Amino acid sequence: MKESFLKISLLEHTPNPEEVVALSARLCYSPIGIEQLKEKLTEEERIKLINLLRESGHLSPFEHVSFTFAVEGISRACSHQLVRHRLASYSQQSQRYVSEEKGFDFIVPPSIKKDKETEMIFLEAMEKAHEYYCKLLQKLEEKGLKGELARQDARFVLPNAAETKIVITMNARELLHFFRVRCCNRAQWEIRQLAIEMLKIVKKIAPSLFMNAGPACVSGKCPEGKLSCGEAQKIRKKFKSL
Ligand SMILES: Cc1cc2nc3c(=O)[nH]c(=O)nc-3n(C[C@H](O)[C@H](O)[C@H](O)COP(=O)(O)OP(=O)(O)OC[C@H]3O[C@@H](n4cnc5c(N)ncnc54)[C@H](O)[C@@H]3O)c2cc1C
Repeated sequence: MKESFLKISLLEHTPNPEEVVALSARLCYSPIGIEQLKEKLTEEERIKLINLLRESGHLSPFEHVSFTFAVEGISRACSHQLVRHRLASYSQQSQRYVSEEKGFDFIVPPSIKKDKETEMIFLEAMEKAHEYYCKLLQKLEEKGLKGELARQDARFVLPNAAETKIVITMNARELLHFFRVRCCNRAQWEIRQLAIEMLKIVKKIAPSLFMNAGPACVSGKCPEGKLSCGEAQKIRKKFKSL
């Protein structure tokens, strides 16, 4: 049993994502076919077109490109929030099929980690959860439940802190939405950290698609009203230079 840390790798993405988006948009308004459009579209036109789509909110061409990430070292608390985003595909490590008998890894929130005494309480809770998981597993197996049938019920005592692994596929339009709500200071720290790392990755691959991506305040007024963190200027600067 040990503390686990966020690890993200990009498994795959649609090749030439900016070209795919620009060509899809151009096709809508052009009498010529895709091969000719491909020949004619210059890099300058591609960027201009993408900027226009992004700024006008005509984002359906962004749906033609997708990104697949492998994420490890996040808590079940974080993955629960993540999978609320419905326009995405997920494959998550199963607590029915993967046993935690040998111990599970866990995520320690920074607020808990920064104080030794608080951290001790947390670590004790992890140990206890593991102890009760093993006890339950043994009891359920004694009652005749085998394999995943025992694990699927013993896991009820596992904590939100338990580490999970998940593969995520999102298209660029959903990613923009995800970054808008989850890179925001109002989002919980762990999913915000995940969203920011994902943004850094996609921005390198498709800078025009993700220019101005990030919380709502990066491209306009903060919509959070009284709940706003009040740091729009600082945040704008941070995300523009990501
Ligand atoms: C700061 C913060 C606090 C939160 N607090 C809570 C909370 O207390 N309780 C809670 O339950 N959740 C909470 N959430 C989660 C939130 O309510 C959403 O479930 C989550 O952010 C997923 O976003 P979404 O529904 O916009 O979009 P996605 O599922 O990512 O979908 C993207 C967009 O597609 C459209 N769409 C998707 N599905 C439908 C549909 N069925 N019908 C119509 N349009 C659709 C919508 O325009 C949506 O915005 C919180 C989120 C944040 C960022």
